[in-house]
Amino acid sequence: MEEKKCRGHVVLMPYPAQGHLNPILQFAKRLAATGLKATLATTPYTVKAIFAPTVAVETISDGFDESGSRQAGNAELYIESFKINGSRTLSEIIHKYHDSDSPVNCIVYDSFLPWGLDVAEKHGVYGACFFTNSLTVCSALCAVQRGIVKLPIKPEDTPLFLPGLHPLNYNDLPTFVTRHLHAYPAYLSLLMSQFSNIDKACCSFVNGFKGLEEAEGGRETPKVFSAKLIGPMIPLAYLDGGIEGDKGYGSSLWKPLSKECMEWLETKEAESVAFVSFGSMGAMSEKQMEEIAEGLKESRLNFLWVVRDTEKTKLPDGFLESSKEKGLIVPWCNQLEVLAHEAVGCFVTHCGWNSTLEGLSLGVPMVGVPQWTDQFCDAKFIEEVWKVGVWAKEDPEGVVRREEIVRCLKDLVQGERSQEIKQNAKKWSELAKEVSSEGGSSDMSIKEFVDHFTISRGNGKV
Ligand code: UDP
Repeated sequence: MEEKKCRGHVVLMPYPAQGHLNPILQFAKRLAATGLKATLATTPYTVKAIFAPTVAVETISDGFDESGSRQAGNAELYIESFKINGSRTLSEIIHKYHDSDSPVNCIVYDSFLPWGLDVAEKHGVYGACFFTNSLTVCSALCAVQRGIVKLPIKPEDTPLFLPGLHPLNYNDLPTFVTRHLHAYPAYLSLLMSQFSNIDKACCSFVNGFKGLEEAEGGRETPKVFSAKLIGPMIPLAYLDGGIEGDKGYGSSLWKPLSKECMEWLETKEAESVAFVSFGSMGAMSEKQMEEIAEGLKESRLNFLWVVRDTEKTKLPDGFLESSKEKGLIVPWCNQLEVLAHEAVGCFVTHCGWNSTLEGLSLGVPMVGVPQWTDQFCDAKFIEEVWKVGVWAKEDPEGVVRREEIVRCLKDLVQGERSQEIKQNAKKWSELAKEVSSEGGSSDMSIKEFVDHFTISRGNGKV
């Protein structure tokens, strides 16, 4: 690669969904804090949701500039259109900076957009891949893509032993390779495509940290999938405070009702509130919403529940009225701010990987109510590996019943294991801070990557 004057300019390209924008924008901030120029390239309908003063923003197109995949209405069509339009518009950004004093020399692309690497190669710049799932989930999917694990996976083929990682039971595996194998072919193909060219990337990043997922004694074992562990990618105000004022991700696709939430939490006693949030994408069945609502009511705990406007009609009749005394329901909030509030005693979560890391990093005991994709694997880690919460199990019809919700909440609040869970939650939260602070393992991984720009200029592996 040609010697250039600028210290380095990284363009980061997330898949335009909240759970992808958050960690990748956070990574952009971390890179910018080292003196690199960081630019986030995202779609027109998400660009207005980005606010991060140290990160530049550019627009790329997925071909559906009003509302992306919703507008496309078909996952296959959307993915193909993003590849064609995204490659073209990402190239235009690289051209735009070509003769400036900050030419682009690296593209960090979301693993859902593997064509980002082709664009990087075409322009002779580094291409690094960012995975937004856990190392375990990435490893399991990679093992399938490489034929190490053959589809269909039968329950009797499990537990699956992947080098260096915890054994995975059938129900822990990403659902697109188990119970949903034939239900969402476009998503399965997208997940497989993440690994199609990965060996050519200069490096891969996973939003996790050393010691988080490796099985005891497994560190020396060769991995199915190797990546730099740079997480948890959450704003530093909640970790070591390393970037001044870094209190939020800086991206929000919905307007958070921060003031209402904070004012309501202020009126509640310490650790008396269950915070309930099922992420940005999921849509639960009406039955499931009813069971959760009734479970919360029966538990008699205070609760703050995020119910997006599109989900609100699924709440049982009269629930909003009858729960006013104990509960607050909001369409969106600043999840980190809520989790960090002392009134919050537990987190009822769908176990999206970001939410899982947020609960873990902030030391909040969790009730996992996984629905699909990687969420079951994350719930397994919450209950069995880190022991920072409990996994609410579904019945044979696939519904988590109200009694199960009550049992889990009781377990966390007053059960035999509640003290142990609280201590573990504290321990993991401290570890998350340690790895993120100056000289910690994740901090060092980021620095190693950055040094590659400033010291070596070869186009090799980082
Ligand atoms: N989130 C938020 N406010 C809410 C609900 C969620 O800010 O009311 C954020 C949350 O902090 C997390 C992201 O949205 O960073 C959701 O990502 P996750 O991987 O947990 O789930 P997904 O939405 O991808 O299923």
